[in-house]
Amino acid sequence: MKTMSISPEIKGWCPGALRPMMSGDGLVVRIRPRGGRLTTVQAKGVADLSARFGNGLIDLSSRANIQLRGVSDAAHGPLIDGLRDLGLIDPSTEAESRRNIVVTPFWSEGDGTADLARSLAEALTGPGAPQTPGKFGYAVDVGIAPILRDTSADIRIERTEAGGLVVRADGADRGAEVTMDSAAPTALRLAEWFLATGGAPEGRGRMAAHLARGALLPDAFMPVRAAVNPGPAPAPGPRTEGFLVGFEFGQMRAETLSILAEIGPVRSTPWRMILIEGAHSVPAIPDLITTLHDPRLRVIACTGAPACPQALAPTRPLARTLSAMLPPGRKLHVSGCAKGCAHPGPAALTLVGRPGGTFDLIRNGAAADPPALTGLAPEALAQTLSTE
Ligand code: SF4
Repeated sequence: MKTMSISPEIKGWCPGALRPMMSGDGLVVRIRPRGGRLTTVQAKGVADLSARFGNGLIDLSSRANIQLRGVSDAAHGPLIDGLRDLGLIDPSTEAESRRNIVVTPFWSEGDGTADLARSLAEALTGPGAPQTPGKFGYAVDVGIAPILRDTSADIRIERTEAGGLVVRADGADRGAEVTMDSAAPTALRLAEWFLATGGAPEGRGRMAAHLARGALLPDAFMPVRAAVNPGPAPAPGPRTEGFLVGFEFGQMRAETLSILAEIGPVRSTPWRMILIEGAHSVPAIPDLITTLHDPRLRVIACTGAPACPQALAPTRPLARTLSAMLPPGRKLHVSGCAKGCAHPGPAALTLVGRPGGTFDLIRNGAAADPPALTGLAPEALAQTLSTE
């Protein structure tokens, strides 16, 4: 009989396209769209490849990546060939792993975002790029206002209050003011400093934790007045740049992506939504979440059992049921185990699967935090939550 581990497995690396991760429903093949954008041809192509070589389900990740699920070992090679034809494959697994960049989706032509993202990607995939840990990443957040501060990244390129550019270490309010040309080299030098000062013992580590342990940034990093963050993650609906749409649990069907690709290029976001460039409206497809008031946005749930081999309980059917009883503004995170993949941060309510298929309840915390209630049967959760 198969035994289950209670402690989630920590891999320390992120799956990619060339190095996919095995899940309960097959390989998960993660695409990192360059500049966070798929052209209409690429988006249509990804949808076709998902339907042909995967199970037709496409996940949006919290680092703005796009994941094709349900790929068999035999289908992986032909899928990679198809993605390479679309210009979506890096030359090596090392290059793919290092090109870990989240780009603000709210950019406009000529504001420098696309150029910065391109030059950073070239620098990170070139010879001699720092060998940072797999989870180490960069944010290009140079729209009018920074919008990625809550998105995982170790080195951030942002606007200063005066509209210039600054390279900032995550976890510090100090930064180095840069130009369009010096931004990428400065970001790489900061990554080299991180490695040289022991930020990644045994190949793992993150910038904020390194600084919290007392590492002092180079002298060139001075206090900067950064542009003011406009607030929480944006709501679905029309925007200046296009139409932002969400999906239940951040997962869409290949047919849906194919339809959206007919409208325009798509930009990935770290909020598990996509922005359809230049669109003022979207077709009435039940999959699409187009308003902040949709109860499906009140729940977050990972893949859970049976698709995730580490899951101790199914998650999404439960989250779907419970979403209807959550008041607006209240967030529920249902996690198949304490790893909390779908939402590393705190939520008002978090349910974590336990051996035997019961759940623990954590109030105002993350999946690995101590629970307030333990051993709750799934059938009793609606009653329990009604009193929370
Ligand atoms: S949090 Fe969910 S997806 Fe992540 S390992 Fe646990 S069960 Fe699997």
